[in-house]
Amino acid sequence: MFNSLSDRLTATFKNLRGRGRLSEADIDATVREIRRALLDADVAVPVVREFAAAVRERALGVEVSGALNPAQQVVKIVNEELVEILGGATRTLRLAKVPPTVIMLAGLQGAGKTTLAGKLAHALKGQGHTPLLVAADLQRPNAVTQLSVVAERAGVPVFAPHPGNQGAVDVDIVIGDPVGVARDGVAYARDKQHDVVIVDTAGRLGVDEALMRQAADIRAAISPDEVLFVIDAMIGQDAVNTATAFLEGVDFTGVVLSKLDGDARGGAALSVAKVTGRPIMFASTGEKLTDFEVFHPDRMAGRILDMGDVLTLIEQAERAFDADQAERMAAKVAEGKDFTLADFLVQMQQMRKMGSMKKMLGMLPGMGQMREAIDSFDEREVDRIEAIIRSMTPGERENPKIINGSRRARIARGSGTTTTAVNQLLDRFAGAQKMMRQMSRGGGVPGMPPMPG
Ligand code: GDP
Repeated sequence: MFNSLSDRLTATFKNLRGRGRLSEADIDATVREIRRALLDADVAVPVVREFAAAVRERALGVEVSGALNPAQQVVKIVNEELVEILGGATRTLRLAKVPPTVIMLAGLQGAGKTTLAGKLAHALKGQGHTPLLVAADLQRPNAVTQLSVVAERAGVPVFAPHPGNQGAVDVDIVIGDPVGVARDGVAYARDKQHDVVIVDTAGRLGVDEALMRQAADIRAAISPDEVLFVIDAMIGQDAVNTATAFLEGVDFTGVVLSKLDGDARGGAALSVAKVTGRPIMFASTGEKLTDFEVFHPDRMAGRILDMGDVLTLIEQAERAFDADQAERMAAKVAEGKDFTLADFLVQMQQMRKMGSMKKMLGMLPGMGQMREAIDSFDEREVDRIEAIIRSMTPGERENPKIINGSRRARIARGSGTTTTAVNQLLDRFAGAQKMMRQMSRGGGVPGMPPMPG
C-alpha cells in the first residue's frame, strides 16, 4: 500500500536536499512532481488540485529557519497537508451514553463489511465490551452463515434470522425483512444488555437505488450512533463516486478502509475523507481477525512519507507484550532511558507472537529504501537477528557502542553469521534508538522527523 507513492515523494524530496534556498521554480517543480505522484496513485483530481495549491502556497511563504533546511520544511508542509486530507485528528468510536451503542455497517458487496464486523466485535470484546452482531444482510446467499462463522471466531453472539446457525440466537423472523431483523436485533441487545450492537447490512456489486433505500430504511429504524461506510481501498478512482453515493443515499459518520494490505495505489484512502468530510476511523489490513487498526491520519501520513511509524510499532508491541513488560517499556520511554538491544530481543520475541515480521519491519523509519529487501524478507532472518543478539554479552546489549571490530567478529562467529550481518543489525538498531530518543524528548511524535533516506 502506498509504496509507489511513497517512493515517488521520497525521490522528489531527495532532489531538494542540499539546497540552501528554494526558488519559486524549485517549488513549482516539486509541486508538479507531487501532483503527478498523487494522480498516479489514483487520488481524486479535486483533492490533488487543492493539495498541490496548499503546498505551493505554504512552501512559497516559508521563512528561512535555523532549525530546518528548505527540503525539511517542504517535507513538513507535505506531511501536515497529508494529515489534513486524511482527516486531521484521530477519531474514535462514539459510544452511546445509554447503551447499547448501535453501529451500522454499509458499503458495496465485497467491500469487507462482514469481515470488519468480526474484527470490530473482536476488538471491542477485548476492551471489555459485550458486542452482539446482527445479520441484516439477507441479500447475498450465505451472508448470514458467513457472519455466524465470523462471530464464532470472534467469540461473540450473533442475532440472525436463520435458526440453527452455530452460536446463533434462534429467532422467528421472516427471511427477506432486513429492516425487521435490524430493529429486532437492537431490541434484543437492549434486552440482553449487550452494550454494543453491530448491524451488518447488504451490499450490491454496484451502487443502486434499492440498496440505498434499504440501507436508509435500516438507518431510520435503528437510529445508529455510528454508521460506518466500509470501502475497499483497491477500487481506485471509483472510491469517490461510491462514497459520494453512500453519503447522499444513507449518510455515514465514519469510513473504514479495507484491504489496505493490498498493493493498491492508495488513492481511495487519500480521497474519501476529504471528499465526504467524514473521518476514516479504522483500517482493515488482512483476512485475520486481528488485521485491524484504528486509523491515525498522522501516522498514515508518516508512513506515506516513509518516516516510519514508530507509534504504531510501539502500540502493536504493547498489545503483544504482557502487561508488565509493556509497563516497563513505557516507563523507559517516558523517562528518556535508552531502548537497548536486550529490550529489542524481548520485543522481537513478543512480536513473533503477532505473526509477520514483514509488516513490523515495514513500519520502521527509513525502510522505504529497503522495500525490496522487505518484500523478499525471509522470516528466518528473525532467527539470525535473534542469534546475533544472543551472542552478545549483557554489557554489549545494554551499550552497543562498546562493540568494536573484534567484538563484531566474535559475535558473528558466535551466531554463525557474518560481520556484515552484525553491522547491519547494529546500524538498524542505532536508527531505531535515535527515533525513540527523539520521541521521548519531544514527549510524543518528533516535531520534525529526520529526512527520509
Ligand atoms: P462484504 O460483502 O462487504 O461483507 O465483504 P466480506 O467481508 O465478505 O469481504 C469480501 C472478501 O474480501 C472476503 O474474501 C474477505 O476475506 C476479503 N477481505 C475483507 N477484508 C479484507 C482485508 O482487509 N484484506 C484482505 N486481503 N481481504 C479482505
